[in-house]
Amino acid sequence: MTMRSSHTITCRACGRQQEFVVWETLNATLNPELKQRLLAGDLNTFVCDGCGDEAEVVYSMLYHDMTQHFMVWLLAEGGELPDLSTIGQLGGVIGESMRSYRLRTVGSRNELVEKVLLFDSDFDDREMELFKLALVETMRRSGKAVEGTLLFAGTSDPPEGRLIRFVLLHGTKRKALTVPWTEWNRVAPALTMLLPAPEKEAGKWLRVDEAYARGLM
Ligand SMILES: [Zn+2]
Repeated sequence: MTMRSSHTITCRACGRQQEFVVWETLNATLNPELKQRLLAGDLNTFVCDGCGDEAEVVYSMLYHDMTQHFMVWLLAEGGELPDLSTIGQLGGVIGESMRSYRLRTVGSRNELVEKVLLFDSDFDDREMELFKLALVETMRRSGKAVEGTLLFAGTSDPPEGRLIRFVLLHGTKRKALTVPWTEWNRVAPALTMLLPAPEKEAGKWLRVDEAYARGLM
């Protein structure tokens, strides 16, 4: 189920008041068009009808993919995990069937988008966090300055071989990076070995980020 509500936002540039739709839950399976708008940033962008000013609006949202079996709570700053007993109603999933779900929390739209791209590409996000740690370590050792947040951004298939794409976000700067797929294949088996037993995490809402990966090392 997809749930929305309307909020009045005051334009920071001209002071005009305007309605803005907040998506409290987004079911990507039932509403693929909303998924695309989320990925494009549309759902989190306020555009003033008066002066055209654009501002990012971050709000808490539950993202649910019934096909890929995952849910991600984007918790806006200060947001807390809501009463989980309501999740069944929100997601149309209850009890045991939730145990096969990957349940995640994230703190920003960028992180939510990263999770969606990872699961859509059949990656294990826990392995990817470990991979990113190793990648940053390798770059630092070779003398490159790595500042900001490294996020998975998809894969591409140029003639010279499959690539994994990343973006390094630092403030308003974005830097694109690619890593050969062969590098992933080389280290993935060792990363899998570091993952906790499935029963330890089943049914739990996990924050799988850099700190999570460090905890596994
Ligand atoms: Zn305005």
